Amino acid sequence: MKPDSTTHGPSVSIPVLKDFETNSAVRRVLDALQGEGCAPRKNGRGWQARCPTHHDRHPSLSLVEGREGRVLLRCWAGCDTGAVLQALGLRWPDLFAVRRVRTNRLP
Ligand SMILES: [Zn+2]
Repeated sequence: MKPDSTTHGPSVSIPVLKDFETNSAVRRVLDALQGEGCAPRKNGRGWQARCPTHHDRHPSLSLVEGREGRVLLRCWAGCDTGAVLQALGLRWPDLFAVRRVRTNRLP
């Protein structure tokens, strides 16, 4: 049995991330920071917060939303981002926007 695809072939469309989806990763991290008392504050294009990993008096943790809603987290005091995530109870995948995987009709 052959598929009848002379007039229309299978159109593969790449799902475009929507605003609420791109924001979800940032929001998740901000929520975690707030929960840890790190007092995240909007700063220009991103946010600043106190680092949960070292004794931080001055907000040295910077959070920027990168491409595709990815969260770029960095402690300017040099803390390991993995350790920061652990302190926040987050994992690496939490830094990425959640994509809804749609199952297309497959032959
Ligand atoms: Zn730090």
